[in-house]
Amino acid sequence: MALDIRSMIFMSVLLSILLSGVLYLVGVHAKHIRGVKYWALANLLYSIGLALVFTPIGDSTKIFLFSGPLLAVAAGLQLVGIQVFEEETRPDWRIPLVAAILSLLVNFVFTTVAPSITLRIVCNSLLMGLLYGLCARNLLINVSRHLRTAYWLTGGAFAIMALVTVARIPAVMLANPMANYIITPEPINLMVFLVFAAMLIVINFGFVLLVNFRLANELQLLANRDSLTNALNRRGLEEIGEHLYAHFSRSGGQLAVLMLDIDHFKSVNDRHGHPVGDAVLRELSRIVTATIRAGDYFARYGGEEFCVLLPGSSEEQACKLADRLRRRFAETQLSCGHDGVFQCTLSVGVADLSKAALGFGDLLAEADKALYRAKEIGRNRVFAASEMERLPESQLDACY
Ligand code: GH3
Ligand code: MG
Ligand code: MG
Repeated sequence: MALDIRSMIFMSVLLSILLSGVLYLVGVHAKHIRGVKYWALANLLYSIGLALVFTPIGDSTKIFLFSGPLLAVAAGLQLVGIQVFEEETRPDWRIPLVAAILSLLVNFVFTTVAPSITLRIVCNSLLMGLLYGLCARNLLINVSRHLRTAYWLTGGAFAIMALVTVARIPAVMLANPMANYIITPEPINLMVFLVFAAMLIVINFGFVLLVNFRLANELQLLANRDSLTNALNRRGLEEIGEHLYAHFSRSGGQLAVLMLDIDHFKSVNDRHGHPVGDAVLRELSRIVTATIRAGDYFARYGGEEFCVLLPGSSEEQACKLADRLRRRFAETQLSCGHDGVFQCTLSVGVADLSKAALGFGDLLAEADKALYRAKEIGRNRVFAASEMERLPESQLDACY
């Protein structure tokens, strides 16, 4: 089968324009995700740079003065786009700038000062191979867990581009110099453009997948969060709780649960209004989040009832934390507007795996029973599930 190199370049030009449009639209719809517009612009520059390669203007080699730097800037922009997408840093414009200057220099020297098709292709291939290699490295080294497949796909395609571009160097060095001209049907030229066209599609689909996975991940996080307090919601709590319960009951490790409920919260709403009640819920969330450890989980169970999951903690350790939270909240001056302040208290039920044999729901139910008992015996206190059986009713007041 005879492949026509001009047709392949023409198709690549068309593809680049179309993919630039697709990525532009993706960028419009996912404005907060950075990097997409650089990828769209890179495609546009690829299409102009490639179109120039076979535009019949004067001495055709002179065209590389423009097309080479355009292609180098395009690859540089892809790299900048990957960096800002991954790290959300400011774009590093030095990358496309240095790529443009190097490419201009190489193409100027080897087309005008000391014309050499071979050296021009070798240097351009080295520069482009380096840029593609850096794109692949960034994607394959900093793989984000949630976007794994998109990172591997895009990074793999860049790695193939880098390999094929660099493989061109020994091929052109061994060939007849006149046959090195880029649009001659040399096998290596055909191979480069064929791979380029195929990888162009894979890389751009990879970019779209990266954005898609990021959006899906953001949605998943939103679906598991309570918008008022930013704590996990019931759904998030159950997802993580089931997982932790299965893990710790299998491995024999510890897992404790706190159930927190604000005392007489209804009267806070009645006296000061709902917005003040909301501010109290946010304040409690702030105190809990600032007090628990990095591996603990904090969730809003519903209304003014919250739940803390403490992997690796026994009931005794959990009771100490619960009492610290109770004291911190009770000492906090809460604002009710017009410079007025008031205080609120909290009751906490504590349970751990030793009391819950049937599942995570069982563990929550145990902590809830203990909370109910804390309310019964006077509020503003911590009650542990294990105390339920041990203490006779008459001594319950002595608990904490
Ligand atoms: P107890 O000490 O027995 O827990 O009494 P309580 O008043 O705290 O409990 P109760 O269940 O009677 O009232 C809970 C109140 O919490 C009623 C409801 O209006 C209020 N509430 C639930 N969710 C929200 C919320 O998102 N914002 C505000 N401001 N209030 C809420
Ligand atoms: Mg309450
Ligand atoms: Mg309640």
